[in-house]
Amino acid sequence: MKTELRHHYTDVLEHLKTYFPSPISDPIMDGYFVHSISRFLDQVDSLKSAMPLLATDSNEQHYENSQQATFPEHTRSIEEITAMIASYCQGMTIWSHPNAQVNVIPPPTISSITAFIAGAMYNPNIITDDYSGRFAEAEIRAVAMLSDLVGYDSQQAGGLFTFGGTGTIMYGCKLGIEKALHGQGMQEGVREELKIFSSNVSHYSRLNVVSWLGVGTKNLIAIPSTINNEMSLSALENSLRATLNKGEKVAAIIATLGTTDAFGLDDLASIVHLRDQLVSEYQLDYSPHVHADAVIGWAWAVFRDYNYEDNPLGFHARTLRSLIDSLERIDSLQMADSIGIDFHKTGYAPYISSVFLLKNRNDLTLLSRVPEQMPYLYQVGHYHPGIYTLECSRAGTSALAALASMQLLGKQGYRVLIGHTIEMTEMLRERLERHDCIKVLNDYNYGPVTLFRIYPPNVNADAAFHRELNDPDYSKQLSAHNHYNRQLFDLIHARVMQGEGVLLSWTIGYRHANYENASTIAAIKSFIMSPWTNLDAVNLVVEQVMDARMQLNKQSQ
Ligand SMILES: *Cc1c(COP(=O)(O)O)cnc(C)c1O
Repeated sequence: MKTELRHHYTDVLEHLKTYFPSPISDPIMDGYFVHSISRFLDQVDSLKSAMPLLATDSNEQHYENSQQATFPEHTRSIEEITAMIASYCQGMTIWSHPNAQVNVIPPPTISSITAFIAGAMYNPNIITDDYSGRFAEAEIRAVAMLSDLVGYDSQQAGGLFTFGGTGTIMYGCKLGIEKALHGQGMQEGVREELKIFSSNVSHYSRLNVVSWLGVGTKNLIAIPSTINNEMSLSALENSLRATLNKGEKVAAIIATLGTTDAFGLDDLASIVHLRDQLVSEYQLDYSPHVHADAVIGWAWAVFRDYNYEDNPLGFHARTLRSLIDSLERIDSLQMADSIGIDFHKTGYAPYISSVFLLKNRNDLTLLSRVPEQMPYLYQVGHYHPGIYTLECSRAGTSALAALASMQLLGKQGYRVLIGHTIEMTEMLRERLERHDCIKVLNDYNYGPVTLFRIYPPNVNADAAFHRELNDPDYSKQLSAHNHYNRQLFDLIHARVMQGEGVLLSWTIGYRHANYENASTIAAIKSFIMSPWTNLDAVNLVVEQVMDARMQLNKQSQ
């Protein structure tokens, strides 16, 4: 028989108590806690270099080993686990790095991180204020501040934090379903065909939402988008009319304000007018819900009261034009029935921090359960969002982080952060446009994202792109050019991994060509989010692209 060291459980328990922050004031234990975090910072710091990534001890992910993992028998020390946690940061992109231009992923501010630590330590659950104290108030305050920002009437508006932008779309569509079914859906289920409309470049999370809500993807109607990546209004109108003519119901229209790949902005005002007109023309006894998916674009609302004439922040003309153009669309957010907002995108807060904002908070009664169905909740306290939220447990962290970000930065801070990313993006476009072999795909607009394609020698970029979009006889070249760009992207990526250059990303489906059964047009993507991105980083993108092109052309000679 194996002899084991025996410990009475109470001895172990005494030791385990040192694994928790102390419940009563204990400066020595607090010191140990801070020390643990500080060791983590030191260990991660040693992974930093000139690269926009934390170093990793191998290029291979340890997935194989990870799949063999078994549940450990013994306790380990906080120090060992701190080292382990630091090691799991290996290979992470440093989103704040000037040479990270990957996607709409922000570096979080210190205050939003502190809010996450506060939430992690005190573990608020905003199912009810009974379990979340003033974190519940943070939710109410954040929602009021956002209503003010977009121009909702805060006497009527409401909202809640939820599980990501996908969650915000889900809430919007669910309200649309309940409106179309006169509130019967919660009990009876969805027993008739309900249609939901959005543009064909809207976020794919719409597919999840309609499947999970029982509407079915076959009832999701993708409206073609224009070359500006906004929903075609005439196509939307035709499609809505066709649905209504058949006697089918329209549960919701999702307008996207800031598409993920190209920052396309749907014409929300016209969509709402069209909805209103159809409601009266067809004498509908419900109003199709218009949800604005503004998880990226919401932050542009800070420019609603910017003085463009005086331009006190001194943005360049090209930047100003871009901001004014974007704002023209963003300004109409107040017309939407509900709005999705992600702080973990353009709000500079950690994942997850998403707000579902509602013009008329009374709509939430459509989602309410009666308290008798939740016997152990709501015995005390004043704020019981768990009565209508999809979630039971809901972390208070996200609300406090959003509040902290808004208070810390204010409109002015967001104007500077967003304005800077646009300024850098415009500089990048200007530099890319100087080359005949490069086509900037979303050159008309606005956001911090630039999509571009590079063409081989003796191909004129503008002409080639035009044919790719429109000419079925050019589809072979379209595929070849997709491949060519992918090779360039891989070359660039490999160099970044060697420690030089700017980390970019790749999208296989910037958009479809304009004819039937067309393949998608791929693109290299730069998404600027970091306040540290400067002209050097912008110039480096163009240099590395041209270098890689030269290398590839040599190889294929
Ligand atoms: C990212 C994104 C979503 C999904 O949001 P998550 O927070 O990732 O769930 C929805 N719509 C748009 C336009 C997005 O960019």
